[in-house]
Amino acid sequence: MRAALVRPAEGVHRHDVPLRPAAVAMAWLGVGIPHEVLAVPGVALGRHDVLIAVEMSTICGSDIHTVQGRRHAPAPLILGHESVGRIIAIGDEGARAVDGAELHAGDRVVWSVTVSCGHCDRCLAGLSQKCRTLAKYGHARIEPRWELTGGFAGHVHLREGTAIVRVPEALPAAALAPVSCATATAWAGIARGAALRGRGRPDPAAAGSEETAVLACERVLVLGAGLVGLTAAVIAAELGGQVRIVDPDPGRRAFAERFGLAALAPDDVAEEGFDLVVEASGHAVRAALDAVDVGGAVVLLGSVFPAEPVPLDAERIVRGLIAVAGVHNYTGAELQAAAAFMGGRGRAYPFADAVGAVHPLAAVDAALVEAAAPGAPLRIGLTLR
Ligand SMILES: [Zn+2]
Ligand SMILES: [Zn+2]
Repeated sequence: MRAALVRPAEGVHRHDVPLRPAAVAMAWLGVGIPHEVLAVPGVALGRHDVLIAVEMSTICGSDIHTVQGRRHAPAPLILGHESVGRIIAIGDEGARAVDGAELHAGDRVVWSVTVSCGHCDRCLAGLSQKCRTLAKYGHARIEPRWELTGGFAGHVHLREGTAIVRVPEALPAAALAPVSCATATAWAGIARGAALRGRGRPDPAAAGSEETAVLACERVLVLGAGLVGLTAAVIAAELGGQVRIVDPDPGRRAFAERFGLAALAPDDVAEEGFDLVVEASGHAVRAALDAVDVGGAVVLLGSVFPAEPVPLDAERIVRGLIAVAGVHNYTGAELQAAAAFMGGRGRAYPFADAVGAVHPLAAVDAALVEAAAPGAPLRIGLTLR
């Protein structure tokens, strides 16, 4: 690997933070090109920016899509949007967590994949993940004054407009890193499904009881036992749903069974007519539309890569009073709920075991190949050392 050096930006109205030794990030330069080490000897924090020392990042399917050229990305960039880390510096006017609490150096945090302005029409409408001036960690071209843009790095520079959530010290990093993509997306999907079913807003802190749980007695089908589907199924079950999770991969089914889930091969689903169907693979949209009962809801989470269009039986949707919704990413409040779930009832489950191996950053190319291989664990972790 060659090393590139980026000079720190001039600090006008910014808080200069020199880094000795320099921060290290793995720069992705394009399809088929090995990552290069980027050394960043200092950052210039904006008024409410935050600098993070990364504890662990995990490789998500979107990172794999990017390196395989299946998802357009502006190189050079730093991949990685599932991370947990610790605050080491804050801009001159401070920063607050989603819950309003002031953040301090030393806080252990997760943060949103998106940076949102907070005042455009979409942000004001509660669609902050679709902000008119959106930026995304792990998916933004390196630019002057914002080099540390992704999680495959020793440090990440969080810009104002990032949702930041403090997380418990006791939780393993492997359970926390995926919160900012897989867990929060799963939470947003189940919350949307509950809303479409008229079941109200799920509370990550509420103790589940058969009668009061938001999804009590709901027949829930989750298609795809990757980390998003698995997490969605666990959340739905914790909220009282009667959950089936389906995946063609026996290894994924076996892992899902460790979470107490009823995991089935696609041809083995005996029931039909589900109240809520969550499609989390991107490969079973038609099956999802076929499986939903009259008055039911279909939430599509997995279709985040190009695929053949799926025929839509509009008459069945209309006559069946069926709701179909897409959910992509999540809001800051949903990230906070997802973190609260993982720090609460999620502790009872072996989520940390979804990270099957942890490699040093320098081995990122091999780690991405490993993560994309058939039968790979749901996540591969990366750390500075
Ligand atoms: Zn906005
Ligand atoms: Zn992701």
